[in-house]
Amino acid sequence: MPRAVDDVAALGRRCFWPPYTASEAHDAGDAFLVAGAEGPYLIDTEGRRWLDGSGSWWCSNLGHGHPRVRAALKAQADRWMHSMVGGLGHAPAYELARDLVEIAPAGLTRVFYSDDGSTAVEVAAKMAFQYWHQNGRPERTRFAALPGGYHGDTLGTMSLGAVDAFSALFAPLMFGASRPPDPADSGGWERTFEALFALIRAERDAIAAVVVEPVVQGAAGMRMYPPALLAELRAVADEVDTFLIFDEVFTGFGRTGPMWACEPAGVAPDLLCSAKGLSAGALPFAATLATERIYDGFRGGKARSLMHGHTFCGNPLGAAVAREVLAIYRDEAILERAAPRARQLAEGFERIGRIDGARAARALGMVAAVDLGAQGYFGTRGAAVQRGALERGVHLRPLGDTIYVVPPLNIGAEPLAALIDGVHDAVADVLGGA
Ligand SMILES: *Cc1c(COP(=O)(O)O)cnc(C)c1O
Repeated sequence: MPRAVDDVAALGRRCFWPPYTASEAHDAGDAFLVAGAEGPYLIDTEGRRWLDGSGSWWCSNLGHGHPRVRAALKAQADRWMHSMVGGLGHAPAYELARDLVEIAPAGLTRVFYSDDGSTAVEVAAKMAFQYWHQNGRPERTRFAALPGGYHGDTLGTMSLGAVDAFSALFAPLMFGASRPPDPADSGGWERTFEALFALIRAERDAIAAVVVEPVVQGAAGMRMYPPALLAELRAVADEVDTFLIFDEVFTGFGRTGPMWACEPAGVAPDLLCSAKGLSAGALPFAATLATERIYDGFRGGKARSLMHGHTFCGNPLGAAVAREVLAIYRDEAILERAAPRARQLAEGFERIGRIDGARAARALGMVAAVDLGAQGYFGTRGAAVQRGALERGVHLRPLGDTIYVVPPLNIGAEPLAALIDGVHDAVADVLGGA
């Protein structure tokens, strides 16, 4: 008799199609089967625990199975699990909207719900586009964005993003965006932003919105830039009176230290996108926050309403969970208590950065990264480190040759030390043999 686990693995090989994976690699592969998860750990089918270094795709901000998140989900499931928000409403969606507005950067007063990070950005882009279309500037149809930006995998968000490895082949289907040169070519982030400002001014009549990941570009390899540049960007957007979209899908909910990564810049966007940590990674759930000015631009009859909606907009399970997540952040002082862990993480990656051959070790809040080479997304050292880390009880998912970790904000000092040590030793092994 084959064991149940073998059956599951065989089923996966036969019927399942995983993302970002070559078919023959999946057919031949032995996927790591998760059978549980708790706090900072994934638990496999043998009951072994592995530190979840990539935070289950950057969203496990409170660790797995937080008892209050679990209880909120169960309680809402017992009441009802879904009803639409077109024409109907409900307390979980409205109360969460109030709670989000309360903690949002100043001026964001309206909340539109969708399902994931991609849709949160897609909604923001359509809001900006339609706003100008029906408020006297229909020629504003283009977007400006940063090189290396990542905003999701739908056609619209790929158009705004610039991670070539992901999206280049779809170029004929995309609407394109105006982008300055990459900091690697321009001489640094200041130059790149200067070029962005110049193109915003040059295309001032055409730009519907400027879209950026504030302070940390996740998928580009956890690239970081100074918050002061966001303040300058805000000033330029104001100067030409166009909209700023901050994609805080990854950086929001305290990932970089403050609740929102844009806070240290002292500026707010016109549209803010949130997902991932919004539900603490428990459910697909997203929100796009907008200013009253933008909301007001959709008055004047049915034909001027926002032409966008999803079946699961404001889903009561997601809304109830997200409300509880915000309550946990308050009650457990999640941001304050993460500060010493962030220092521990930064020190750990400084140590990793001193390994011969490691470069550009960096950390901000509860995200840390180090580069092992210049091969980018298709580099192979990352995969070797991934294998080595697994032998040390740590699950990583490198971005090519960029090794990063995004631990839960409430991880304990000991598991964090084990995570850092696991990464350190795996990196030292691979670079030592390089
Ligand atoms: C993950 C991510 C997205 C896309 O979110 P999905 O939930 O995967 O659609 C968008 N923007 C940023 C910055 C992200 O990190």
